[in-house]
Amino acid sequence: QDLDKGLEKTRGSFFDKLSKAVAGKSKVDDDVLDNLEEILVTSDVGVDTTLKVIERIEARVEKDKYLNTEELNQILREEIAALMAENQSEDVEGFDIPEGKKPYVLMVVGVNGVGKTTTIGKLSAKFKANGKKVVLGAGDTFRAAAVDQLKMWGERTGVEVVAKGMNTDPSAVAFEAVKRGVEADADIIIIDTAGRLHTKVNLMNELSKIRRVMTKVIPDAPHEVMLVLDGSTGQNAVIQAREFTKATEVTSLAITKLDGTAKGGVVIGISDEFKIPVKYIGVGEGVDHLQAFNKAAFVDSLFK
Ligand code: GDP
Repeated sequence: QDLDKGLEKTRGSFFDKLSKAVAGKSKVDDDVLDNLEEILVTSDVGVDTTLKVIERIEARVEKDKYLNTEELNQILREEIAALMAENQSEDVEGFDIPEGKKPYVLMVVGVNGVGKTTTIGKLSAKFKANGKKVVLGAGDTFRAAAVDQLKMWGERTGVEVVAKGMNTDPSAVAFEAVKRGVEADADIIIIDTAGRLHTKVNLMNELSKIRRVMTKVIPDAPHEVMLVLDGSTGQNAVIQAREFTKATEVTSLAITKLDGTAKGGVVIGISDEFKIPVKYIGVGEGVDHLQAFNKAAFVDSLFK
């Protein structure tokens, strides 16, 4: 239900246009396909992914000779979901921690303002509620507000936060946090990082240094590197994803702020282009507004 509500704007714009495109038509013809292409592009699905979707629909039209517009919805759903990366987990709750990796180290990356700290806060609340012990590392040492905000989430959720002074080397914080997590017998250690995108080399060096120090405590850490993207920025989120995936190995995505934007189609394009599982989506500011992502449920919600 939260998902449907969160995607209201995207669905509104997408679905309205789609209904208009097929109004008065009984079969999918070139006209409908042209309109569909435009709708997908203006919904921030991205040009490349849009062309793939159109090609797939064309192939279906060809194969079935005659595709009526009522069938188009169903077929679009299938083809869009097929292009997207596999779901991270079959567990629809999505807030489980892989077995045999305790403490599990989750490193969170992304530029400032995308909702990184909020996502970490929401995650700690979820894990805590599931009876897991969480330790947070306030590695965004370049912004005083980031550290304070993480501490606030820590207090609110009853989770320990490892923090050091402003401008401390983020890797020092990461090291401390991982060490503390081991000592405290934590189930999961979540490390915040600074989101500075000054230069690619800078970002790359900083992230690899953070990764490197963690391995001194836990050799296979980090177990997961999650990139947080702000879905409401549409194609900007795509650009950030390109930069970060070049700078470091990203293994999961969280796409925030899908509520209040009509650009939710960007999730489809990102999932297709990077083939990195979208693990969570943010559909509001509250603790419960972080949802485990399921591509079928997401696509279905756009067509409701
Ligand atoms: P950071 O700089 O990346 O750590 O970003 P913050 O976590 O401070 O978030 C920036 C702003 O975005 C805050 O006002 C958050 O409440 C807001 N925010 C984060 N996620 C969501 C979301 O899913 N939906 C909405 N509407 N706001 C969000």
